[in-house]
Amino acid sequence: MRAEGRQTVRRVLCVFPRYTSSFGTFEYSYPLTDGVQAFMPPQGLLLIAAYMPENWEVRFIDENIRQATPNDFLWAEAVLVSGMHIQRTQMNDICFRAHSYDLPVAIGGPSVSSCPDYYPAFDYLHIGELGDATDQLIDILEKDTSRPDRQVVLKTADRLDMTKFPIPAYELAEIPRYFLGSIQYSSGCPYQCEFCDIPGLYGRNPRLKTPEQITAELDKLLACGIMGSVYFVDDNFIGNRKAALDLLPHLVAWQKKTGYVLRLSCEATLNIAKRPEILELMREAWFGTIFCGIETPDPVALKAMKKDHNMMVPIMEAIETLNRFGMEVVSGIILGLDTDKPETGQHLLEFVETSQIPLLTINLLQALPQTPLWDRLKKEGRLNEDEGRDSNVDFLLPYDDVVKSWRRAMGSAYVPEKLLERFEYQIRNTYPNRIKPPIGAMLTWKSIRLGLVMLRNIFWKVGVLGDYKRAFWKFALRRLARGEIEYLISGIMVAHHLINFARDASGGQTNASYYSLKLQDAAVPAE
Ligand code: SF4
Repeated sequence: MRAEGRQTVRRVLCVFPRYTSSFGTFEYSYPLTDGVQAFMPPQGLLLIAAYMPENWEVRFIDENIRQATPNDFLWAEAVLVSGMHIQRTQMNDICFRAHSYDLPVAIGGPSVSSCPDYYPAFDYLHIGELGDATDQLIDILEKDTSRPDRQVVLKTADRLDMTKFPIPAYELAEIPRYFLGSIQYSSGCPYQCEFCDIPGLYGRNPRLKTPEQITAELDKLLACGIMGSVYFVDDNFIGNRKAALDLLPHLVAWQKKTGYVLRLSCEATLNIAKRPEILELMREAWFGTIFCGIETPDPVALKAMKKDHNMMVPIMEAIETLNRFGMEVVSGIILGLDTDKPETGQHLLEFVETSQIPLLTINLLQALPQTPLWDRLKKEGRLNEDEGRDSNVDFLLPYDDVVKSWRRAMGSAYVPEKLLERFEYQIRNTYPNRIKPPIGAMLTWKSIRLGLVMLRNIFWKVGVLGDYKRAFWKFALRRLARGEIEYLISGIMVAHHLINFARDASGGQTNASYYSLKLQDAAVPAE
């Protein structure tokens, strides 16, 4: 449900900031695609764009695709920005540029909601989710688009029921330019892992859309040109297990109706392995990948960070269970925990080998404001404000040793031969457990053309010009011999980014924490 039309018509420019390079941005793989330039359509800003009064004009720009131009700013009467901590520098830069045109600028989203102090220059801070603060902002902009004398803070006390959320304004975004589609069913997570700000920001009782909203959003994503995969950005897809069970039959029906043109993926806690009834439906709905915050294979560390739920099923058994339902596991890993020992890095590499997980996002611990970890470290005097460091945590082990161990882990886990062997394992042991959708609807001229373009790029840019040719051809020739073209494309799309990103990481050219402010200028460029 969007806000009702207003008497005064406004022109609002929504600008999404560039990402700083990370595991999940995949920018090294964009040249292998047919024109992809950004990772996922930003749910939050597209939602706000859709919520603007129906007679207001809204323009959306994702600066991962192109920069907002002087003409955009000259057109606008107000600017809205949203993003995560990792985009902090870029968000402040957008504010600076908009102010040079004397435009009022509002910021919303997860970063400002947990750290308002990061954004002193913005005119309006929108703290919290879509709700009464959004309505107040619209009221203010309707009356007056001059910049206020001092910063105005608007806090959502009354959140809009998610069943009343409008469909994000996907039509304003260039959907075919995104690596993945994105969609959100729920918000919040019932657990309280020490380092995580989700329960504090979005609550422990997940709020939900209806299954009908989700299938309508999928329809719209398709109509806007998404191809390939759609990622559920929910903090925890099984935060409310009953809700997941309610949704899945609708997803299965939608896949059958549309011919399985989109593969699905999500984030969920590892204890999903205890729920075969959910996993079976996910298999039928064609979920191919599941991100689990495993964080560490060390049970003592899991207990200390209050992530005991990861141990409801032994970790290796849980991974094997998910693989048995056709789902490849992606794992979040944290180094720099208080429980880490000098040999933790080596244990991590052993875990990578045993689990055969291809993609692990290995980050250094960072204390986020509004988390129990932040409160504890503050009390212990272990928060380090030096922005030149890779983490704001004073580790118990020497800082240099922890960073070195992270670099070593990155350098070793993503050696091309080892990474492609882990994909080989998935191809043999996980992918055969997936359903085999009818190929009819998938084989359109558009999808065939896309596959051919990607193959040409892969063979030329990796197989001929690349610098891990030996490992590539060993992997590629096996795929060709077995007619596994789809796995050749999907494996190399992910591997190429990881190999290059890990080289930057082990060479000290990226941050060791996703959230660190260091090197944020090295953002993914808009082409
Ligand atoms: S399970 Fe995941 S989303 Fe939930 S509190 Fe823990 S880290 Fe955060």
